[in-house]
Amino acid sequence: MINFLKLISRNKLALFGGLLIILIFVISFLSPFLPLKDPDITKTSDRYLLPFSEGYFLGTDHLGRDLLSRLLWGTRLSLLVGISAALISATIGSILGTIAGFYGNKTDNIIMRFIDVLMAFPYILLALAIVAVLGPGLFNAMIAVALVNIPFFARNIRGVTVTIANKEFIDAARLSGMNNFQIIIREIFPNILPVIVVTISTTVGWMILETAGLSFLGLGSQPPQADLGSMLGEGRSSLIVHPHTSYIPGAMIFLIVIGVNLFGDGIRDALDPRLSKGELIKPQPVTLIKSKSKISEDRNNFLSVKNLSTAFEFDGKTHLASKNISFNINKGECLGLIGESGSGKSVTALSITCLVASPPGVITDGSINFKGENILEMDYENIRKLRGNKISYIFQDPLSTLHPLIKIGKQLEEAYNEHSASKENEATERGKELLKLVQIPNIDIVWNSYPHELSGGMRQRVSIAMALTNEPELIIADEPTTALDVTVQAQILSLLDELRKKKGLSILFISHDFGVVSQICDRVIVMYGGKIVEEGKAESIMKKPRHHYTSQLMECVPHIGSGKRKLPTIMGSPPSITDKSDIGCLFANRCLNKKNECLTLDVQLTKKGDSEVRCLFPNE
Ligand code: ADP
Ligand code: MG
Repeated sequence: MINFLKLISRNKLALFGGLLIILIFVISFLSPFLPLKDPDITKTSDRYLLPFSEGYFLGTDHLGRDLLSRLLWGTRLSLLVGISAALISATIGSILGTIAGFYGNKTDNIIMRFIDVLMAFPYILLALAIVAVLGPGLFNAMIAVALVNIPFFARNIRGVTVTIANKEFIDAARLSGMNNFQIIIREIFPNILPVIVVTISTTVGWMILETAGLSFLGLGSQPPQADLGSMLGEGRSSLIVHPHTSYIPGAMIFLIVIGVNLFGDGIRDALDPRLSKGELIKPQPVTLIKSKSKISEDRNNFLSVKNLSTAFEFDGKTHLASKNISFNINKGECLGLIGESGSGKSVTALSITCLVASPPGVITDGSINFKGENILEMDYENIRKLRGNKISYIFQDPLSTLHPLIKIGKQLEEAYNEHSASKENEATERGKELLKLVQIPNIDIVWNSYPHELSGGMRQRVSIAMALTNEPELIIADEPTTALDVTVQAQILSLLDELRKKKGLSILFISHDFGVVSQICDRVIVMYGGKIVEEGKAESIMKKPRHHYTSQLMECVPHIGSGKRKLPTIMGSPPSITDKSDIGCLFANRCLNKKNECLTLDVQLTKKGDSEVRCLFPNE
């Protein structure tokens, strides 16, 4: 709740709307206690007095009634009616929507067709018809407005309920012996509540307006009772000569609707965790870059990353996810990047082609020299030409990176056509050739399949084929085998290794598994808490890890044939990006060889031979 208030208060417009609404609420609901004149007392000698006349702050109307008093009493009534209508239609609509969505089939059909009938008429027309049947009056106007808004809630809530009703936790609830009613109340309702709140907050302004509309036409509140719509209707007859009688209720309607809508939008944003972290706002095709570093002397390297730091900006602060990362990859080399989950591997890999989502991502420092050019100084068009072309990616979960609605073949063709202007059939030939290269059986069947029809291993092979489409020189594989079982994992690894040798590819291979890295990498970088803690030849790190993090991490890997032993774990958890302590060794509090100096001294990456380690007392 406090978090929610914080989010709302950071959204200036929502805060303005909220305060406006509260102000209007407080003043209008206090009107019985304020020293106001009776809103219905007429005084013909004081007709059409202008605002700021003596005794009448907002002037008077055509019967000499005090406009200030009528405005406040009227606002109170309009708010009451509008909000009641919103609550009624939210309750009925949500119940109908939940039942339709949860039970489905016939129930769904009957309820939704009834809703469709309601929707078949234009809102206002339907409301008019309902009032015509029920007879004019504020109560009937409220019922009419509530009725015509039911479909809005029912359809929204039904959609959400259908998705939730098919989730595993509902099955689990059923298994635990709950009946349908209990499931709806305990499992479904908490999940749809935010949607109901958001729908109310975004429609209540509209309902106040509709009620005012009916009163304006004389079908809502009846004289002498004032509400905003009827005041506007009465003012209409003297609009030209005495405009203030219309402007005053008009301005109030305007303020209420603006306030409610701004506040409603704010609630919606605050309840959506993605919006509040800035993820859905202005997604940019290239990560925001604030680095001014030029590329350094070693222009001849194939890929040379220098002092790369990438951060996420949220809660008004900058949180570094990878700090001062430097490494080189040579042509045909496979570099392993290893570390626990959350250590900044993916962020580093995505930064290479500026794919970290901005906002909230920012590259704050560094240079990335790819074949003599600094990627961080390129414009978007040139970076786009690199992606999927000279540098391509293979991600962990091919089911979420392949398009679910497009057949495999089409997706492969698309990948090719994006970068190579091709003749007819060229893309098809290339695609099939690649599927053969990654050892897919029954190429023609796979070509015409959708991603969900393939097994995990096949999907990952398709992703690899796609990554190879445009003859890349560098492949960045971000945990490509983590989602696969061990035998398929071995096949994929040997496939990547073979391709690398055949085509002279360079690979940046990310994993959290030492076993996997040792199989295909020449060199290895170990990351912890966003920093490189050790770098060296794969063989020597595997044989003699120097950083205690590396050795403790390797202890956790089971070895076949090494006899019975208890598999150790590393106690504690890695630092999160919001931890700001930058003194001493990041790993110190989990290290089995910690000494006092580890907590107080600055620990730098130090070179020894062709390996580097960030530790004051490394294993020797
Ligand atoms: P991994 O090493 O498992 O690939 P990542 O590079 O994905 O880890 O993440 C590094 C850190 O950055 C993590 O602590 C994660 O919480 C943080 N992070 C990643 N993406 C975002 C994001 N969009 N917003 C905020 N923090 C993020
Ligand atoms: Mg990752």
